[in-house]
Amino acid sequence: MPAATAAKEEFVLEVHHRLSEVYGRQISYFHDLDPLSELVSALLSHRTKNRDSGQAFKNLMAVFGNWEAVCDAPLAEVQAAIHPCTWPEQKAPRIQQVLHLIGERHGSLTLDFLSDMPVADARKWLEDLPGVGPKSSAAVLSFSNMRAKALPVDSHHFRVAVRLGIIEAKIGEGKANRVLENLLPPDFTAQEMYDNHQVMMRHGQQICHHYKPECSRCVLLDLCPTGQQLVNKAV
Ligand code: SF4
Repeated sequence: MPAATAAKEEFVLEVHHRLSEVYGRQISYFHDLDPLSELVSALLSHRTKNRDSGQAFKNLMAVFGNWEAVCDAPLAEVQAAIHPCTWPEQKAPRIQQVLHLIGERHGSLTLDFLSDMPVADARKWLEDLPGVGPKSSAAVLSFSNMRAKALPVDSHHFRVAVRLGIIEAKIGEGKANRVLENLLPPDFTAQEMYDNHQVMMRHGQQICHHYKPECSRCVLLDLCPTGQQLVNKAV
């Protein structure tokens, strides 16, 4: 392994340990959905507040009761049910398209079979669906009751990793999912990988804000080139 990669892996692990001291370890999973429900939840959540996508998901269940009924419903009714989330006019047809394709490709409306596949194959199966990228495939495998080992990278996580110099912004959030996952120790458990997602995201939400990161309160300041620059500029 090149020395630079080994050093970066060590750095990422140090960041993980420090943030785990602040935000915790063995963090509780926030969902216990089957993988298909988790996929619909992921499709609803794009650029939407959790509260609003959660309400849209509840509405779908309350109005239709199951995914077969959502798949076969008139488009306008699905769109009305998911109105709390952003762009219901785009998300409703996408959800129905994805449900139709899963039914066609698998023969029934479930993704439970993914748990019998290697994680890489399960992610490829998901990413062959329209609108499903690396973040969503990782979210389905990690957040659903599969509890598989995959690292979803959201915008907070991405911002913190860029500011720390772990990745370059130009690689984009999509590619960052696998790059950051590959820098974590191979013997990390699924729970540890989920913890990494959580602590990086929480740090972005609570300290390393998009505007005005609170570097003087940050436990990573001595490791962070961006933080050093910002603090020195302020002096
Ligand atoms: S030192 Fe500042 S820029 Fe760096 S991770 Fe902490 S809050 Fe973010």
